[in-house]
Parts: sequence; structure tokens; C-alpha cells
Amino acid sequence: MLQDRLSLKSGGVDTASSHLHFHSSAVPDLIRDPLPHFRKKGPGSRPGRRRDSFQQDLPGSFSMHDIETLVIGAGVIGLACARSLALGGREVMVLEQHDLIGSETSARNSEVIHAGIYYPTGSFKAQMCVKGKEQLYRFCAENGVGHERIGKLIVACSDRQLVELDGIREKAIENGVLDLEFVDRDKLQELEPELACSGALWSPSTGIIDSHGFMLALQGGLEANGGQVVLNTSVERLESLPAGGYKVHVATVEADSYAITCKELIVSAGHGAPGLMSALPGANPPTAYLAKGNYFKLQGKSPFSTLIYPVPEPGGLGVHLTLDLQHQARFGPDVEWVDSFEYEVDPARGGKFYAAIRSYWPDLPDNSLIPDYCGFRPKIVGPGEPAADFRIDGPEVHGREGLVALYGMESPGLTSALAIADEVSARIA
Ligand SMILES: Cc1cc2nc3c(=O)[nH]c(=O)nc-3n(C[C@H](O)[C@H](O)[C@H](O)COP(=O)(O)OP(=O)(O)OC[C@H]3O[C@@H](n4cnc5c(N)ncnc54)[C@H](O)[C@@H]3O)c2cc1C
Repeated sequence: MLQDRLSLKSGGVDTASSHLHFHSSAVPDLIRDPLPHFRKKGPGSRPGRRRDSFQQDLPGSFSMHDIETLVIGAGVIGLACARSLALGGREVMVLEQHDLIGSETSARNSEVIHAGIYYPTGSFKAQMCVKGKEQLYRFCAENGVGHERIGKLIVACSDRQLVELDGIREKAIENGVLDLEFVDRDKLQELEPELACSGALWSPSTGIIDSHGFMLALQGGLEANGGQVVLNTSVERLESLPAGGYKVHVATVEADSYAITCKELIVSAGHGAPGLMSALPGANPPTAYLAKGNYFKLQGKSPFSTLIYPVPEPGGLGVHLTLDLQHQARFGPDVEWVDSFEYEVDPARGGKFYAAIRSYWPDLPDNSLIPDYCGFRPKIVGPGEPAADFRIDGPEVHGREGLVALYGMESPGLTSALAIADEVSARIA
């Protein structure tokens, strides 16, 4: 590993449960549909329980509601929130429109555990990435989730970029990332002979993760604490109840529709969150934008043993190389502002990839990149505007007790998921 060869700090490797691509066959039936009776008959029809006895069981003021805490969205952040709330003793149910957990943004990202280097100091992104990274490494180790502290090089390809590395290191230190180290050209030549650059910063705490293994472990933690995920259930509309709590109108794939009431509501619906929240007067959700990120896969073996990122350029992190847990290389994501979800990757975008990659890997062979997958960043600011922070709207923002809405959960949302879950739990405590 590069860490060993650099004699810098190195971390653990655990690829025991690695399976990067999530196939429905990997999901036990119980996980796919843990509450079929609930879906068929509506609230109060939980298996083996009549609605009245269910309500009598519930302690405290939420006994007037069907469930204490509802989470909308079984992406990585919704699942992390649900687990955290269930661990805190709440009765939690997650509603998910698809027939699988984590099949939107959480299934279409780079699976990088970010160190927390570039984000504005003091922002949620900076704080939660740095905290969440440590929580995530611990969680992976304790729960057998595949991951690897593979590290990353931020490479400078000119004297001007060499100077920029100093600024990046200073920003990292301000954010609490204290482990970056400068590597000079000679050392890099020895370590990564295919890399053409003037120098680099080494980030040993950057890693890669099996994101679906992580989500399955979060779901397991939720269910072990009495919570459940209900699939194939789309939330259509939200309503505030005059006496407190929320009514959530849902539709199932069988076209049943009904409403569930809850005392607390977490809207972790990714791209769907602004639209759902717009039904609540005063919620003031942001405008939603879509920025597609396209990936190209390298045919053949990766020439690099670590992640390679160019010095960031205005508007993005540049065309970087990431590795999956099998060390297959892919490049991207780029940034393409779009109006709809179009899952094809346009091969014509490859031209820009070749040019950008050859700035640090001049020997990239012709015709070696093939279009791979894409993901959609749930943006809350439009093209050309300064990047937005994570937006976590709790009662202090919208004035409604027991309601937290999450917006703009783009990168580093995967890395930050456990820290975001702590924050959400604190907001409705
Ligand atoms: C291209 C790209 C690369 C990225 N790379 C990284 C990375 O390397 N590292 C990192 O830390 N982060 C990365 N991220 C960010 C990370 O993927 C996200 O922050 C994270 O996945 C967001 O999780 P989520 O649960 O908020 O959203 P989602 O995964 O989108 O989950 C929201 C869920 O809500 C459900 N939903 C929506 N509306 C409804 C409704 N009405 N009823 C019921 N269910 C509903 C959806 O079906 C979905 O399952 C990347 C993001 C992108 C786009």
C-alpha cells in the first residue's frame, strides 16, 4: 500500500463484506418488505396487533399517533437518522418509495470517505465530515462493513498549483484535518511512476467504503432496536395536525392510499424533500436543482494504488481518479446541470475527461475510458452560485415541534451520515 511505502500513518483494511454493486438478490425478503400487512391494510394493521391495542401500548403523548417517529427516505442519511433515533428509544418507521433501500443518490456516488479538507471552516459540511469520518471508520470496523483507508494524493501540476497546496493544507488544519503531508516530485516518481506532477499532498485519512454494506448495517441497527423500513410506499403529501404531530399521506405500488400520523417527522427524502415540504406553510424549502455527475471507467488495471485528485478548480474537485474496493479505477464525477433524471452517460463527454486526466497521467491510452454510471447532486443553489452548506431545518428554523427537514445533502453526505444523524436527533430531542 502507498501508506507503507510512504512510511506515513496508515490505517486498517477491512474488505470482508465488500460488494460494491448492490443487486436486489442480495437483499433478504424480510428486508425488502418487513411490513406487508401494514402496506396492505394501513396503519393500525401491524401483524398480530389491532390498531387499538397498538395505541394502548404506546407510552406518553404520542399515543394519539400511529407511530412515534416517521422518517421519509431510506437513503444513507434517512437510515442513519432512523437508527440513531431508534437507539435513543423511539419507535421509528422509515417510508421508502422504491422496492430497495438506498437506490437513489446513495447508490450513485464515489464511495469515498472524505477527510474534510476543502469545506468552509465552521460549515456543517466541514464539521460533519470530520466527525462523521471517524464515526464511520469505527462503525465499519465494528459492523464488518467493507472499507479501506486507502489515502489520496492531491496533485499539483504546475508551480502555481504547488503554491495552492499550501492553502489547501492550511484550510485542512483549520477544519481539524491535521494529517496532510507534502510529498515531493522525486518521492512521487518512486511511489507512482505514472504520475506526472510537481508535488502533492498526501491525505492518509481518506478512504473508500462499500456504501450498500453500510446501509444494510444501518438498517440492521434500526431493526435490532425495534424500528422498521416500509418499502414501495411513496409519501404524497404532508399535513400538520392542529393538536401536534403530522399526518403523512402515502400511496403504495398497489395504488392503495392512506394516511399515517406521527408525533415526529424527519424528511430525509433527498431530491424529493423540497417538494414535500412545500405543502407546509412557513416551511420555506429551497429551490431544487440537479447537477448530474458522470463517471467513466478505466478498462484494464489501474496504474495507481491510491486515489488521485487534481488541485480543485473553481466549481469542482476536477476529474479525479477513485478506486473501488476491488481497486478498479473510475474517473469523475464531472458536473452537468440538468432538468431531469437521465441515467445515460453521454460518451461524447469523454473528450474532456481525456484532456483533464492527461494533465496528471500523460500516458492514459486512447480509447481506454468507457462510460460508466452517473449520480445526481441534490443541489439547492443553481449554476454559478457559491456552493451551499447542508441545510438542516429543525424547529428553530420553521417553528414546528418534532420536524426536521434535510436539504442539499450532496457530498460529503455519505461520509457525514452518522454525524448528521446525531445532529437530527439533537434537534428533535
Ligand atoms: C455524483 C455523486 C458523488 C458523490 N460522492 C460522494 C462520496 O464519494 N463521498 C461522500 O461522502 N458523499 C458523496 N456523495 C454524496 C452522497 O451520495 C449523498 O450525500 C447521500 O447519498 C445522500 O443520502 P440521502 O439519504 O440524503 O439521499 P438519497 O440517497 O437520495 O435518499 C433519499 C431517499 O428518499 C426517497 N424518497 C424521496 N421522495 C420520497 C417520497 N415522496 N416518498 C418516499 N420516499 C421518498 C428516495 O427514493 C430515496 O431513497 C456523492 C453524491 C453524488 C451525486
